[in-house]
Formats: sequence, C-alpha cells, structure tokens
Amino acid sequence: MPGHRHQNAPIARKEGGMTEGTPALGLTASEFAAIAGTEPSTVAYRDLFIRHDDMPRELRRWADARNVQLRTLSKVKCERGKRSQKVLFGLSDGYAVESVMIQRRDGFTACISSQVGCAFSCRFCASGQAGLKRNLGRHEIVEQVVRLGPKVNRIVFMGIGEPLNNYESVLAAIRIMRDRDGMRFPTTGITISTIGIPKALARLREEHLGINLTVSLHATTQDVRDRLIPGSRKHDLREVVARAISWAERHNRIVTFVYLLLPGLNDGRADAERLARMLVGKPARVNLMRWNPVESVDLGRSADHQLHHFRQRLVRAGVPVVVRDTQGADIDAACGQLWLRDLHGLKAAQRMRTQYGAAA
Ligand code: SF4
Repeated sequence: MPGHRHQNAPIARKEGGMTEGTPALGLTASEFAAIAGTEPSTVAYRDLFIRHDDMPRELRRWADARNVQLRTLSKVKCERGKRSQKVLFGLSDGYAVESVMIQRRDGFTACISSQVGCAFSCRFCASGQAGLKRNLGRHEIVEQVVRLGPKVNRIVFMGIGEPLNNYESVLAAIRIMRDRDGMRFPTTGITISTIGIPKALARLREEHLGINLTVSLHATTQDVRDRLIPGSRKHDLREVVARAISWAERHNRIVTFVYLLLPGLNDGRADAERLARMLVGKPARVNLMRWNPVESVDLGRSADHQLHHFRQRLVRAGVPVVVRDTQGADIDAACGQLWLRDLHGLKAAQRMRTQYGAAA
C-alpha cells in the first residue's frame, strides 16, 4: 500500500521527537518494496541511489507522497587538495561528520565516518579527543558515499568513529550498498578499518560479506598499545591479532595490520622483531605508516633510516610489508582533524553554517 511504512524501516526524528520521514538511503530492497506497494511505479529501488544533483522530479514527487526523505545530510564545507577532497556533512540533529575522497590511478576511494566522535581516544587521532557523541544511522553512512558521487569505486571505514563499535548500522549499510538491485557497490571494494574489538571480530568472522579487514595495531606490547589507544585497554593485544587472523583464515583472505611508526615508542629493533614473530607464516601483511602531524598532538615522525630498518626486519622475516604514503595530507585528511579543529566537538553544522553559510 503506498505510504505504508514497513515495520523495520528506519525512522529519522528531529530533536524533540518530531518525525522527519523515512530516510531513503537506509532502506533495504524489501523495505522499499513495502513502501512502494503493489501499484505500478516509475521509481525503482536503484533510483534511490541516483547521483545527488540529478534526482528527477518524478523521484521527488514519489518520495514526498510517501514521507520518504531522499537525503538527510547537508554539505557544509568542502576542502580540495591535489588528489583529495574533504567534505564536512551536517547531520539533521546539528552534529557533523567528515568524509574524504582520494583519487587513485584507477578510481576514487571514499573514506567515510561511522560515528560522531569516537570512544577510543587514540593519542594520534583528533576524532577521539572529544569522545563519542552518537552512532551514525545506516542511511547516514550510505549517504556519504552517494554524495561523494558515482566515481567512487572503493570505500574505507577510516573516517570518524570505530566502525565495529557501531556494528549493526555499519553492516546494514554495507549490505545496502552491495545490493545488486540497488547501488551495486563492488563486493571487494569495501574495507573495514578497526582498532580490533575482539568480540566484534569474532562476530565478523561469521558474516559472509566479501569485505577487506584492516586492523590498527600500532604496538607489539600491551603497555605501548594501551598508551596509544587508551579506549582499548581492556582488549588483549594478542587476542586482537588472533581474532583478526582467524577472520582471514575463515574467509581465505589476508588481513592488513596498520602500524604507525612513532619515534622512541614503537619503532625500535625489538618492536620489529616482535611484530615479525606475531605475523610470520600467517595470512597477514603490514602497512607501515608515518605520522601525519596534527595541531596540538605531541607526537613525532620516525626518521627515514628508522623506517628503512623496521621494514627490512619484517621483509627478512618473510612478513609482507608496504609503506603507505599519507595521502590527503595536503588537506589534513587524517581522521577527524577538520572536525576537531573547526568544531571542538560541539554541535557542528549550526556553528559551521554561521561561520561559512550552508551549501547543501
Ligand atoms: S583512530 Fe579511529 S578508533 Fe582511534 S580515536 Fe580515531 S576514530 Fe577512534
């Protein structure tokens, strides 16, 4: 029946509890079918994901008649670098999140957010410093990708938030984006990047999603990891590694461990040797990264020779390793930086609108 809301359809509410409408980009194909009803319609499920600037009038009329909200984010600010573009999206309750689009040789990667703020307080990350405000809904996750445009052919959950700390919405969003009747995002083009919550990794092991997994390890001793990722103190480092490897074995994939080299903290010979012992012979590789400086975070950058020796020790032990460049550094694209610098963890969109004027 037209206008009928499926009982599982997500409902967005304005502050104060007023219903705004069903967010179109959080609908599964079956929820869409329940709303569309049995009457012949010129609107198909895939039309919901149409390029934002090209939404036909027919689609707008269809949505209005059924109290379906086609978009819920407003583009508040956009910064462009040489190969990257960072967008600050305002949410309907006044918060904001950022998404980054990075150009590769063969397409574009969307680096998207999963939460407003983050509970894990990583020392090197601006997002974690203001704490967790709320989870994003599945529609808010999908919309970031839709709004970045159809050139995006890879997605990484590497923006603001810890994706496995918003497990249900992140997985629901991935399923929506991959649906062959809808957005049809390539199966192997989605990467969850996590600090590695053991219970969530165990759950993820049992999902059949065809995604890639990246775990931010950053340390080879519990003590150093606890200092770098205070929110993860209760997670045993060895269990994090074991769960991630178990996921890789189960899915016949390779898990990537990200290791951010920090001088005097985790870039010594003993660190490299411990890391090699943990991963040798396992379906794992290491992405070695160097620090992309952030205002007000007191961390240094490892020297070239330190990076070289660390890498060589892993290579000699037989652990696959790549050194990643800090793409997006030209616009401060490390996670959360724009958000923290400009917003200080306050309700963002209102503040940004006052400052810059909304550009939805
Ligand atoms: S690096 Fe990731 S997990 Fe750590 S505080 Fe930032 S967003 Fe959270």
